[in-house]
Amino acid sequence: MKIAFYGTKPYDKIWFEPMGKEYGFDVHFIEAACSRETIFMAKGHDAICIFVNDYVDEEMINALYEMKVKAILLRSAGFNNVDVKAAEDKIVILRVPSYSPEAVAEFAMALLLTVNRLTHKAYNRTREFNMSLNGLMGTDLYEKTVGVIGTGKIGQAMIRILNGFQAHVLCYDPYPAEGLEAEYVSLEKLFKSADIISLHCPLTSDTRHLINKDTIAIMKKGVYLVNTSRGSLINTEDLIDAMLEGKFGGVGLDVYEEEEGVFYEDRSGDIITDDNLARLMTFPNVLVTSHMGFFTKEAMQAIAKTTLENAYALENG
Ligand code: NAD
Repeated sequence: MKIAFYGTKPYDKIWFEPMGKEYGFDVHFIEAACSRETIFMAKGHDAICIFVNDYVDEEMINALYEMKVKAILLRSAGFNNVDVKAAEDKIVILRVPSYSPEAVAEFAMALLLTVNRLTHKAYNRTREFNMSLNGLMGTDLYEKTVGVIGTGKIGQAMIRILNGFQAHVLCYDPYPAEGLEAEYVSLEKLFKSADIISLHCPLTSDTRHLINKDTIAIMKKGVYLVNTSRGSLINTEDLIDAMLEGKFGGVGLDVYEEEEGVFYEDRSGDIITDDNLARLMTFPNVLVTSHMGFFTKEAMQAIAKTTLENAYALENG
């Protein structure tokens, strides 16, 4: 099978290159993101392999179909960047439904512990040999009330970690899971009671702007918020207003609303500019990371393995 691998970063090759060879695939690594401008590069390949920064719209599906490309191999769980409906009866779409929920949960915890203990501020200070503790007082996580929204794979991993810290875990999910050391409560109770809130639900029409001025209003003053799910779960303007009023103790964001806004632009580069993101980053108790919760060796290896297994299964019927 010949695979056009769009949006290649150096770290992609670590596993895809040797594993691809093991499977006997001819993987053609392309640096450019998949877009209307670069789709012609798929010619002569049986499949294209894409990530969340790439997109495939209806026009591109038709182009792929004409070029006799049989499959789109998504090296991600999400598939909102592909026009799935247009692909029906034309091209097979395969994805990686799960790779390492622990990677994202551990990262959510890293964000929480950083904003909670201000390690990012301490880091900047000690690099200048300033050992002052002024303004660096943190809070314990021990026996705090933590609200986990969404108790799927990542939310459950987060709850297991929180149990180790002996936090009191409240959670909300329209489809509760069994056997968790956590108490399911209404969203309202969760917002009112939590000292810390961590978001682990998908972005849907129900969850868009779940964190907004009304829900922020009922939260405790000094609450900590962590979002490793999708940026649009939070109304960024409302979050900024609340930050200006000193509502939050700290906020850790691995994802931000504007990411979704740049969806149809070329995101093969690493720089994105956005006013709201820039405003958020002026608050010292806000920590923004670059959608990297998934980014561990183990998760990347699992992504490569499942993507290539998908291709193998397709080739062998
Ligand atoms: P999952 O499908 O296993 O779990 C999602 C859970 O959310 C389910 O239990 C579902 O019932 C629940 N849910 C649905 N609607 C809800 C609502 N209105 N309120 C509360 N809960 C609701 O998914 P997962 O693997 O745990 O991933 C969770 C999210 O994490 C994904 O949707 C994705 O946005 C995000 N994610 C981020 C990264 C990253 O690198 N930061 C990586 C992978 C996934």
